[in-house]
Amino acid sequence: MNLISKLSDIFMFRNRTIEDSYTTDPQVTVGSIVMGALLRIVLVLIISFILASYWWFREYWWMSFFILWFFAVYPAYRQYQGFNTSMDDIKESTLCGSCKHFDSTSQFCMKYNEHMSKDYIPCEGMDWEPFS
Ligand code: SF4
Repeated sequence: MNLISKLSDIFMFRNRTIEDSYTTDPQVTVGSIVMGALLRIVLVLIISFILASYWWFREYWWMSFFILWFFAVYPAYRQYQGFNTSMDDIKESTLCGSCKHFDSTSQFCMKYNEHMSKDYIPCEGMDWEPFS
C-alpha cells in the first residue's frame, strides 16, 4: 500500500476490517485513529483561519467547534469504539491477548517488536507471561 492511499485511509477513518485481525500489518490502530483526528483538526483549523478573514464568518466562529466535533472528534471516537470491540475479540481468542507483553493499542508484541495476528503469534507461545 502506498503512502497516499494509507494517508487517505487514515483521513477517511476507514473502518477496521476482519482482515486486520489476520494480518501483521493492521491498518487501524490507536495511532492511526489519533493521526486521522489530527489531520482533520488541522484541516478544520486552516479552513477556519482562512474564513476568518471574511467578516460574515467572524460572527459564526463558534461553528468551528461543532465542525470539529462532527468532522474530527466524533468519527475518531466511533472508530475507536470499533477498534476496541475488535481488540476485545483478539484478546479473547488469542494467546497474546492474555500475555503481559501484548500491546492492545496496536495489536503488537512488545517483546518481539512485531505485530501479531489471529494467525501469527511471534513467539509461538514460548515466551507467554501472565499479567502479574
Ligand atoms: S511474548 Fe508471545 S504470547 Fe506474549 S505477546 Fe509476544 S508473541 Fe504473544
